Amino acid sequence: MTTDATNATIAPHGGTLVNLLVSGSDRDRAIEEAANLPKLVVNERELSDLEMLAVGALSPLTGFQGEKEHRSILESMHLTNGLPWTIPVTLSLTDDDVKRVGGTEAVALVAEQGGRALAIVEVDEIYKRDRHAEAIGVFGTDDPAHPGVEALHAAGEYCLAGDVRAIELPAHDDFLGYRRTPAEMRAAFAERDWKTVVGFQTRNPIHRAHEYIQKCALEIVDGLLVHPLMGATKGDDVPADVRMRCYEVLFADYYPKDRAMISVFPAAMRYAGPKEAIWHAIARKNYGCTHFIVGRDHAGVGDYYGTYDAQKIFDEFEPGELGITPLRFEHSFYCLRCEGMASPKTCPHAEEHRVILSGTKVRQMLRGGERPPQEFSRPEVADILIEAMRSS
Ligand SMILES: [Zn+2]
Repeated sequence: MTTDATNATIAPHGGTLVNLLVSGSDRDRAIEEAANLPKLVVNERELSDLEMLAVGALSPLTGFQGEKEHRSILESMHLTNGLPWTIPVTLSLTDDDVKRVGGTEAVALVAEQGGRALAIVEVDEIYKRDRHAEAIGVFGTDDPAHPGVEALHAAGEYCLAGDVRAIELPAHDDFLGYRRTPAEMRAAFAERDWKTVVGFQTRNPIHRAHEYIQKCALEIVDGLLVHPLMGATKGDDVPADVRMRCYEVLFADYYPKDRAMISVFPAAMRYAGPKEAIWHAIARKNYGCTHFIVGRDHAGVGDYYGTYDAQKIFDEFEPGELGITPLRFEHSFYCLRCEGMASPKTCPHAEEHRVILSGTKVRQMLRGGERPPQEFSRPEVADILIEAMRSS
């Protein structure tokens, strides 16, 4: 159940790095057992959650959460044992599923009909979720146009809770060299003798502003983990493979090899803004990060959240309660008068001297085959994005 984390930069959330993957004869027995259990096809988001649970990214959770935990999280941002937690990790069931699996002691999870069993979930409880309370509690809105609320309503109205025994991780055919579990990530940090590591969450290509923020953070810690989210995102976000090519060209020429790493974060996006910022930080703590970058509108979408809500929410926890240290950053830009990257915190000059482009403007330029100014985006990155738009 646990793995050695004594050489760790920081203790996992709750103190124990969970590992739900069974091995050896336990695994053989689980495969045999799963063959006779009702099968449950999980959706893409739940598949990501299963992987996150299995590898310990969601430590101390050992399975999908029950109604009491669910309510505790929504009402208090804490688990019933008092640990901070902001987004319930659930396994949804439709009415038909409930009829089919009701009364069984365990179910086997599969990625698709007829697929191999990935995990067994012991059925502790099946409960009806309060979708309205969950929408408000997690996303701060019940607007069905919000992608997280939309996903919540698309999922079954019931939840199955119980401990997980993972037989194998969901199959991936991409970024294999970048997929590291929290235990592997911790080992990599130890190997490099990093005592402090800053994690950077992203679901976008990295432009100069983000590179600047990462490097500002790296000035005060030993290592940087660029940890792009590669689970499900909105259809209009830049595809994962294109983003990865952008990260690779940057790392090839602009990041110190002994101080920075890229690895894949297998989570799916919720777009829950502040609640997701905390959830992202806790997961990165499990991966061994001591610090976590929180920029403007972290995990936001549309105008559902205030620009700095995702930073302010960290103040709602007692000092030390989260363990990981948030590093809060302002919007940054290249300033022609400063002749360097800067932010409103460091640059005294007027707007007209700052190279600031809206997301819409940048997309428009890229789509037209035009590189944004190199003070905004490195040409290597711009070229990849232009090429991707041309072929899409
Ligand atoms: Zn300036």
